[in-house]
Amino acid sequence: MHILRLFLVLCLFAAHPLTSLAVQPSSRPNIVFILGDDIGYGDFGCYGATKIKTPHIDRLAQQGVRFTDAHSPSAMCTPTRYAFMTGRYAWRQPAGASVMSGVAPLCIAPGSATVASILKQAGYVTGIVGKWHLGLGERETDYNRPIKPGPLEVGYDYAFILPATGDRVPCVYVENHDVVGYDPADPIKLDYTARRGEPESFVLGIPRIGGMKGGTAALWSDADMADTFANKAVEFIERHQAAPFFLYLATHDAHVPRVPHARFRGSSQAGVRGDVIQEFDATVGRVLDALDRLKLNENALVIVTSDNGGVLDSNGPDTVHAGTKETNNGHLQNGVLRGIKGNLFEGGHRVPFIARWPRQIKAATVSDQLICHVDMLATFAALTNQPLADDAGPDSFNVLPALVGTTEKPVRDHLINHTAGCPGRLAVRQGSWKYGPSSYPGGQQRTNKDGKKAAQIPAQLYNLADDIGETKNLVAHFPDKVKELEALLAKIRATPRSRP
Ligand code: CA
Repeated sequence: MHILRLFLVLCLFAAHPLTSLAVQPSSRPNIVFILGDDIGYGDFGCYGATKIKTPHIDRLAQQGVRFTDAHSPSAMCTPTRYAFMTGRYAWRQPAGASVMSGVAPLCIAPGSATVASILKQAGYVTGIVGKWHLGLGERETDYNRPIKPGPLEVGYDYAFILPATGDRVPCVYVENHDVVGYDPADPIKLDYTARRGEPESFVLGIPRIGGMKGGTAALWSDADMADTFANKAVEFIERHQAAPFFLYLATHDAHVPRVPHARFRGSSQAGVRGDVIQEFDATVGRVLDALDRLKLNENALVIVTSDNGGVLDSNGPDTVHAGTKETNNGHLQNGVLRGIKGNLFEGGHRVPFIARWPRQIKAATVSDQLICHVDMLATFAALTNQPLADDAGPDSFNVLPALVGTTEKPVRDHLINHTAGCPGRLAVRQGSWKYGPSSYPGGQQRTNKDGKKAAQIPAQLYNLADDIGETKNLVAHFPDKVKELEALLAKIRATPRSRP
């Protein structure tokens, strides 16, 4: 009898050596990385907003650390997400460097190191819920067949995604490899020659980029999107509460088209854009409540940030789901910063970044450390005691000491800012200095507000320590500093790896 029991126990260990022996879930924090879309430096209460109320995010900041000098790796969606996922600057190669269509192939090579694969290797269950925008499939995406490679081939165990953006076709969700609600009798046909505003670009009454026919039963509901993602995120947390898990929750709020659920419509004092940011705050609240309810918050690292700076934005001919200076009602989406999404100015890429981890991070702290989303790969590797392979996360610095506040020393002494493209337009940041060789203000604005061509300038140098609004171009005053930063930028471009 005893021998039989011993035999059965040995069989169990042999069948599940990792789950039985190696992984100790209690020692590793659960990680939830919440990425807002087009939410700016001034959009949350804890960053100075008064016309938009964000009580859940403000509570997170009260219980954790709030960064004042955190950056998205790019000033646009896709390159930021690429760099976050891979720990590699997106401007180094064409794939993932520019904003992708809804039928672009996957821009990350299956098998390469990603934030998800690194954590999966450490025994985490990994999931993505929300906006993907990194391409799907090996060539032009066919939504009528199993869709791969995609998130599951680059490190995720579970995926419930919006394939590209809310203002692009297809207007369907993909769960793992399949369109949710797909009906083979009503195939999905996409037409990316249709321009936003043309009759065939209207899906669910809203003009999109590209046209879509078929897939009627699979169409999402714009007004329910935030709730759909929040529900899926909470389900993922509930399902994996016993394991260490990593959840990447990438919301659609506050990108256009801005279609808040009815309970948020008119809830803010900053128009529909303010309403969807309050909806984003409620999504964060749902996640925090789930962690509380499941008694997981003590050892959970929760990060809330945004993929690029804020922008009022139009949605083609659609003014209902956009934002204007008038509807903003005096609210400044990027606070004191100059510029908007897409710019090299700070307003393009300096973003809110809050981290809470009650077991390790001191409550109600503020950090002026320079950090970037591209650093998450090395940081998560450090968090799980994993050395990085030489070619993994080549631009990713371990910023864990900044998160947990154990150092005053800069965790990275320089950073490259980027707008879309390969290499697109770049600026280099070192200490409080910022230099960009771009010949247009902000890197991308070729016209002034009056529509006239902007005056070209040789280059831009700012000292952010006393000019965070980038009003004084010092390029003519500090030629040695210009040379030094030019050389640093050239060196990083010429070297495939910038991390130590
Ligand atoms: Ca974005």
